[in-house]
Amino acid sequence: MSKVRVRFAPSPTGPLHIGGLRTALFNYLFARKHGGTFILRIEDTDQARYVAEAENYILASLEWCGIGPDEGVGAGGDMGPYRQSERKERYAEYADRLVRSGHAYLAFDTPEELDQQRSAAEAEKQTFTYDATTRNGMNNSLTMDGAKVQQLVESGTPYVVRFKFPPNEEIVMQDIVRGEVRVESRTLDDKILFKSDGMPTYHLANVVDDHEMEITHVIRGEEWLPSLPLHVSLYKAFGWTDSMPQFAHLPLILKPDGKGKLSKRDGDKGGFPVFPLEWKDPKTGEVSSGYREEGYFPEACINILAFLGWNPGTEKELYSLEELPHDFDLQKVGKAGAKFDHDKARWFNHQYLQQAPGEELATSFEKVLAEKGVQASPEMVLEVVQLVRERADFVSDLWEQSSFFFRAPESYDEKVVKKRWKESTPELMRALSDLLQHIDPFTAEHIEREVKAEIEAREWGMGAVMNAWRLLLVGAAQGPSLFHIAEILGKEEVLKRIETGINRLS
Ligand code: GLU
Repeated sequence: MSKVRVRFAPSPTGPLHIGGLRTALFNYLFARKHGGTFILRIEDTDQARYVAEAENYILASLEWCGIGPDEGVGAGGDMGPYRQSERKERYAEYADRLVRSGHAYLAFDTPEELDQQRSAAEAEKQTFTYDATTRNGMNNSLTMDGAKVQQLVESGTPYVVRFKFPPNEEIVMQDIVRGEVRVESRTLDDKILFKSDGMPTYHLANVVDDHEMEITHVIRGEEWLPSLPLHVSLYKAFGWTDSMPQFAHLPLILKPDGKGKLSKRDGDKGGFPVFPLEWKDPKTGEVSSGYREEGYFPEACINILAFLGWNPGTEKELYSLEELPHDFDLQKVGKAGAKFDHDKARWFNHQYLQQAPGEELATSFEKVLAEKGVQASPEMVLEVVQLVRERADFVSDLWEQSSFFFRAPESYDEKVVKKRWKESTPELMRALSDLLQHIDPFTAEHIEREVKAEIEAREWGMGAVMNAWRLLLVGAAQGPSLFHIAEILGKEEVLKRIETGINRLS
């Protein structure tokens, strides 16, 4: 195999959907696996849909995930330029070449004329297609004489260049994911290759660039599979079949219920982002949430995306970006659409949160605390984080799990009070307080030993003491080990909370 060169070729029409990011990742992994090059090409030939901010967004998303390009936009390289708008001149020449070799033709039909054809077909309950059966009745260089064509071109009459599909040919294609795909040419229309605005369409620019950039494998979403017959036919028409890339069309990412393609609306409905980074629509100002801002780790994101359409065929689920290329295999990419599972996404984040170094989590959590106006020593924050992290999926969950460390309860869960606060409880808590006063050092282990011994000796009952004590320290029935909570709060604070609680509840 010649040196692997793959490309991610997004159109900058808006924020990158996670489906696009998954395509980028699979290209990246394939390149890494084969010691190849991962290229970023920006396909900005559609001027009407162009969004200037999108390119930066795409790059920032790749970089956040740690899968920035080796070559192309943002990285440079000697097969550029890598923005199609900067390659404009070449496409006209290639279109010309196809016209001269009889694989394409100039079509002068006006939008009105085309509309007319469509309505006429509709009246007969048919759909109009510009193809071998109709092209001979239209205004194009196949039906006009050369002088007329030349005159129209010279006088600046708008025209497009269309591909001329042979009428009866079976187009046979190989796809790494789907195997052999066959299509009859008569079911295809004469697609526009070059537009009247002087820009190529996606099809022409894409094939020309893949050829010029020596792309060996085209890995992209399934939505491009219908374009494959045209692309393969273009390679043939140009005489490039020998160097044609191999194709792999990745399965769609589906809504959680599997009914259709995952859209931004599904994300809004299900409360999960469908974009890697937050995106503010430059026109409407509407803000869409991003994985980064929702508190996902980039490592988790990569892991989530890797399993959308691929799996290693083993039990292993946690993969770092460094490990993935080894096991990743396009042969193991499934044909069936991959359902997006939000709970599973959270599960991945949970796993990465458990793996993250405590100091890193503590630093992130300090920002949350600062927003709440809470001040605490770095040592305490770290201790708290270590104690409650196993209950959190996101750094932001840490607050919910630990706010009582930083703020003494202002009220007490009524249900718990009803169940756990008995007439004899204040006395019990006073006795506990007396005991705690004398415990030194005030460590979880030590407190546990002393308190348990006392409970046993005085026959207080474990539940009676512990539940009420938790209520006074936490304000509710939640939280991790009480002895650890006590140690982190410190003796003074623990005694204070017991005192306050007794006064308030009695
Ligand atoms: N510009 C196309 C897109 O936006 C690229 C498709 C391809 O990879 O061929 O997805």
